[in-house]
Amino acid sequence: AKKLGRNCYQFFEDSMNEEAQERLRIESALRNALVRQEFVLHYQPQLDLATGAIVGVEALLRWQHPELGMVAPQRFIGLAEETGLIVPIGAWVMRTACAQAQAWRAAGLPPLRMAVNLSARQFAQPDLVQSIAAVLAETGLPPACLELELTESLFVDDVARAVALLHELKNLGVALSIDDFGTGYSSLSYLRTFPIDVLKIDRTFVGQIDGDSDQAAIVVSIIALAHNLQLKVIAEGVETAEQLAFLRAHECDQVQGYYFSRPVPAEEFAALAQATASG
Ligand code: C2E
Ligand code: CA
Ligand code: CA
Ligand code: CA
Repeated sequence: AKKLGRNCYQFFEDSMNEEAQERLRIESALRNALVRQEFVLHYQPQLDLATGAIVGVEALLRWQHPELGMVAPQRFIGLAEETGLIVPIGAWVMRTACAQAQAWRAAGLPPLRMAVNLSARQFAQPDLVQSIAAVLAETGLPPACLELELTESLFVDDVARAVALLHELKNLGVALSIDDFGTGYSSLSYLRTFPIDVLKIDRTFVGQIDGDSDQAAIVVSIIALAHNLQLKVIAEGVETAEQLAFLRAHECDQVQGYYFSRPVPAEEFAALAQATASG
């Protein structure tokens, strides 16, 4: 038993080292990634469930590292958040997504709202509102064409500041959505006082609506809640025709998921949006 214990410990130590080493490697690579232009945005359509039209698009960050290959956001967003690197990276995302949305408008793509994810660190920046206003002015994108995706966790630290900030953002004319709705632990009362436009139902609920009636009940409740509060509701992570049928039957407003398209590079998204509009 002693020997087994030591082996286990050894194994544990090795895997800790590996993890720590990967973290260090990723962190130092992350510091150079912006300069080396290794980030790219992929775009995933959001469809109006009633008309089938693409009405929105979410910008999702990708990191193409020359040696590590394609690094998924889950592997580096947390680290970028801890190190503060998410602030310059997030600013790059905002500029790139808004410039892209404006380029698509100029190219005659059907009107779309560009959704951009905001991290906690960005939300805490004192110049958040000015920096977004500057990007809108610089790119010429009408504020109504930008939607900021926020998670409930951004609101818990300082509710008063969050409310004030959300109002400032609303005054810019941008739309605000709550991402991953239902996974946080915040009270629902903020929904009445916060100037929110959209709830995004987390894909963990959507993914289980065919199998699990509890999850289905949650989805139905979120849709009803949103509509009672005059909010739009988007279901994310829609993968099957059954999920789509369920969401349609329960009058969900918009859908996003692999069933329609994975997040794709800009050119591919533009082709998809053109084809959907003309077909
Ligand atoms: P999220 O904001 O909840 O984004 C949705 C995630 O679900 C994306 O993963 C998307 O590719 C994935 N997804 C979409 N449809 C489906 C589906 O039908 N099935 C499944 N299984 N997955 C689907 P991705 O791109 O890997 O991003 C993961 C997370 O990383 C995002 O979750 C978001 O929290 C974060 N993230 C991505 N880009 C950014 C960014 O620019 N800034 C910040 N702060 N966070 C970002
Ligand atoms: Ca999101
Ligand atoms: Ca989400
Ligand atoms: Ca999510």
